[in-house]
Amino acid sequence: MTQHTVLVINSGSSSIKYQLVDPEAGTSLASGLVERIGEETSHLEHKYGEKVVEIDGPIADHGAGLRKVLELFAKVGPNLSEAGIVAVGHRVVQGGKYFSGPAIIDEKVEQKIRDLCPLGPLHNPAHLKGIEVARELMDVPHVAVFDTAFFQGLPDESATYALNREVAEKYEIRRYGAHGTSHQFVSGAAAKFLGRDDLKQIVLHLGNGASVSAVVNGHAVDTSMGLTPLEGLVMGSRTGDIDPAAVFHLHRQAGMSIDEIDDLFNKKSGLRGLTGDNDMREVQRRAAEGDETCILALAVYNHRLLKYVGAYTAVMGGLDAITFTAGAGENDSDMRRELCERLAFMGVKLDLEKNAVRSKEPREISTPDSSIRVLVIPTNEELAIAQQAMTLL
Ligand code: ADP
Repeated sequence: MTQHTVLVINSGSSSIKYQLVDPEAGTSLASGLVERIGEETSHLEHKYGEKVVEIDGPIADHGAGLRKVLELFAKVGPNLSEAGIVAVGHRVVQGGKYFSGPAIIDEKVEQKIRDLCPLGPLHNPAHLKGIEVARELMDVPHVAVFDTAFFQGLPDESATYALNREVAEKYEIRRYGAHGTSHQFVSGAAAKFLGRDDLKQIVLHLGNGASVSAVVNGHAVDTSMGLTPLEGLVMGSRTGDIDPAAVFHLHRQAGMSIDEIDDLFNKKSGLRGLTGDNDMREVQRRAAEGDETCILALAVYNHRLLKYVGAYTAVMGGLDAITFTAGAGENDSDMRRELCERLAFMGVKLDLEKNAVRSKEPREISTPDSSIRVLVIPTNEELAIAQQAMTLL
């Protein structure tokens, strides 16, 4: 069988992450990262099998970065055409109301992504840089895969904020959600793992960014991220849910500008804001040593999780499965145990031994008599993007 591969690109404001994926086999052939683009200390890392090549030195812009990456594919391997590249898949955070699935990028789609920059100011401009240079340098179809697409079908009652209707419509303010590619992939994998589609599921994507979704029979019915990825759970450096009046208060009382408050809520809050550390492992280590700020931060984090699980169970009128995914979800057995203990009233029973096992495989960690199945399923957004791109083509 001839191999077909997709180069998946996640372009950030000063970085390009990439992975060459075989979507049919579900394998990654090569991966890498260009970071600190535009600075003197740019860094490029390319991995192919056992080979790891690192390059330090200034990379002026995204175009120069991608050109270097393509050189490395040619020099270090794998040779892209021999590897059967058929498309480039681009991660795009904000697809607004326009995209309920992946789209082949042409001038019009690119323009729509540009038009959506006000709704995704931290992400879409950065994605566009990657899209522009990749389309220039690589003559294959380019596909945009949107983080918001899985949530385009949310019921109106969960997508609508109780905001003045005219204002909300004029400025397109609604719940768009994010991490949709992961929630779709993981909820699909959970259904496959459990051998049934008629499921009421909660997916907890707990990485640096964190979000939760409620999924009924494969369709998302609610999700914690909103107009932007700021809403919802406590994250590495984002507040998650907060009374919006905190914005007025900070503006009036502290004289902070809107940009300063944006930066405070997105980059200097969450675990980092509460403790100085945005990595869950570090916060836990300090909590174990008795650091009060870290103990409180973990309590706030867990309390928020618990509230969402309770709320989404009520929204769905029941719950069959909870699935943990992403960095903390996949690896943090203490957090999983604490949450599940507090859900014991719903009949959740964790198998403590299974919960403690470290693995990269999808697995069940509840006991056979648990009334709700609890799973850990590693997310793989790159594979999901590659598969969606391939299916579209
Ligand atoms: P991103 O959202 O940046 O893609 P990841 O999904 O890789 O992030 O998750 C990164 C986070 O996962 C880290 O910040 C860390 O808090 C958490 N994490 C990873 N391993 C563990 C672990 N063993 N225990 C607790 N937290 C972990």
